Amino acid sequence: MKMAGNQSQLAFSLQKIKDLGYKLTPQRIEILETVIESDSPLTVQEIHAAIKERHPHVSLDTIYRNLSTLTEAGLVGQINLQSRDSARFEFQGKHHHHHAICLSCKQSFCLDECDVSGAFKQQMENAHFKPVTHIFEVYGYCEDCQKEQDAAV
Ligand SMILES: [Zn+2]
Ligand SMILES: [Zn+2]
Ligand SMILES: [Zn+2]
Repeated sequence: MKMAGNQSQLAFSLQKIKDLGYKLTPQRIEILETVIESDSPLTVQEIHAAIKERHPHVSLDTIYRNLSTLTEAGLVGQINLQSRDSARFEFQGKHHHHHAICLSCKQSFCLDECDVSGAFKQQMENAHFKPVTHIFEVYGYCEDCQKEQDAAV
């Protein structure tokens, strides 16, 4: 069942890339396959390592550039963890959403809803700014880390 789901997510993504007028390059397809198949968000290094198995010459920079295109297209979500070096990427497909990140164990949790309001969009319009994507992250402590903190007191 999971495979069928992955196939339709890939098909949806490839169509969206075409619809947005981006080129459908082999690297982009492979990056999408990699993030779709992964159960957890991946660092750019992990994605690079996976692609390199089949394409030994592809550079980290190429992966970065293609990831930002896929992020712009809304297909991949970036979890920043406060720095570009520790950023992780996950497949978002049709479901744009945000994350809560634990400052202690660095785990990220998917939040279901994007609550970027009409007021925010209005401000963009007032500034004559055309938004492409946005990042919103919540930092705090997960349930397990809160328990540990309580126990330590
Ligand atoms: Zn934690
Ligand atoms: Zn998520
Ligand atoms: Zn959002």
